Amino acid sequence: MKLKDIYNTNKPVISFEIFPPKADAQDYNGKVESLFSELKVLSKYNPTFISVTYGAGGSTRDKTLELVIKIKKELNLLPTPHFTCVGASKAEILEYVKEVENAGIENIVALRGDPPKGQDFFVKPKDGFGYANELVEFIKTNTNLGIAVAGYPEVHPEAESAKDDLINLKRKIDAGADAVITQVFFDNSYYFEFVEKAQKAGINVPIVPGILPVTNIAQIERMVAMSGTKIPENLTNSLKKFENYPDAIKKLGVEFAIKQCKELLKNDIPGIHFYPLNRSFATDCVLKELNINYTIKN
Ligand code: FAD
Repeated sequence: MKLKDIYNTNKPVISFEIFPPKADAQDYNGKVESLFSELKVLSKYNPTFISVTYGAGGSTRDKTLELVIKIKKELNLLPTPHFTCVGASKAEILEYVKEVENAGIENIVALRGDPPKGQDFFVKPKDGFGYANELVEFIKTNTNLGIAVAGYPEVHPEAESAKDDLINLKRKIDAGADAVITQVFFDNSYYFEFVEKAQKAGINVPIVPGILPVTNIAQIERMVAMSGTKIPENLTNSLKKFENYPDAIKKLGVEFAIKQCKELLKNDIPGIHFYPLNRSFATDCVLKELNINYTIKN
């Protein structure tokens, strides 16, 4: 099913994002098996698709596709690989997207990617692309894949201004993207404002909120440092208060995410894209509490 059809419904679409275990990790296969056990737990919510990230510098290129194919075969869920412009020439990109299509995959998340480690700025690869809108246009011209792109309710850290960032988001939609998946945020007012401004700017595709139930302080600190996402003061204070109590942190994170999702669901949102960070526990707890008609699988 193509992204266009996925979001052509009046029920909120639930999707999950996972990442491939490090390719050189000891016991890679064991890690994949445990990831699949977690996904099996979440598959009872009948997610409409599972997106699989693409490692920095293309480091998980083969692993991403391998996982995507395994999800399709073994879990019978709709997988969606991410892909970035990092270190790839047009010829390599063409080869990869054709491989994705030939594997029977219907959608892709098209990204520029972050600068590789040790580099301050993104450098356009030789005969490659400098921005995601160019990648979207290329994929659109050369394949029939449905395309999602990234959006930033709190503005992408490299953008000159919020206005410029929105103009650049519109370039991706005009190039053929079917949906926007947002960066994680914890304060819904950023999302609501972003959607309103995007619609006024003529962006009329679904803008899907990205939600991460916090379970671990170190993880969240890393993420915030990279993306510039702000954590509301009340959440920061509570997390600090319980920093030596991992179970209390999980409980707090889950309760916060439930509240956040409930508020989003009261509004006209296309769905929720969860970032479970390869673990089912928190997202499962959140979904149990949301009054969504998932047609839960047994
Ligand atoms: P772009 O849309 O190209 O934007 C990058 C910056 O350039 C922005 O500041 C934008 O305003 C500006 N810009 C865009 N177009 C132009 C233009 N034509 N002219 C001038 N300026 C322009 N990273 C990974 O490595 N792997 C993943 O799997 C991955 N998945 C992600 C999934 C989601 C939902 C999100 C939100 C992010 C993901 N990322 C991933 C992170 C992403 O790669 C980084 O945020 C990256 O820095 C920007 O990628 P982009 O596709 O948004 O880039």
